[in-house]
Amino acid sequence: MENVIGFLLASLVFGSAIFLFWVLPIWLGLRWAKIKGVSKLWMLFGIHPVTGWIAFLVLKYGIEPRKKCRKCKESIIINAQICRYCGNEMTEEEINYAINEFELRKNQ
Ligand SMILES: [Zn+2]
Repeated sequence: MENVIGFLLASLVFGSAIFLFWVLPIWLGLRWAKIKGVSKLWMLFGIHPVTGWIAFLVLKYGIEPRKKCRKCKESIIINAQICRYCGNEMTEEEINYAINEFELRKNQ
C-alpha cells in the first residue's frame, strides 16, 4: 500500500514538473507568438525548460507585435508606416486595422 501511494505521489510530482517546465511555457509561448504575429519557431527554445520560459517572456514583453506587408508579405512592426523590405507605404486605416486585430487577439 505504501508503495502505491509513493508511486502516485512520485507520478504527481513528476507530472507537475513536466507541465511546469515544458508544457506550460511552450503553450504560453505559442499563444503569444500567434498574438504578436511572429514565428512559432521561437518555441523550439522550449526544448529546454529555462530557455522555454525565457522565449515566452521575450515573446510576451520584449517583442513588438507584427503585421504582414500587403505587397511583399514580409512581417513588419505593427505601426510601421513604410515597409522596410519593399518600401510600400501603409495607409492610416491599414495601421489601425492591424492594431485592432492585435488587440482582439490579445483579449481572446
Ligand atoms: Zn513590403
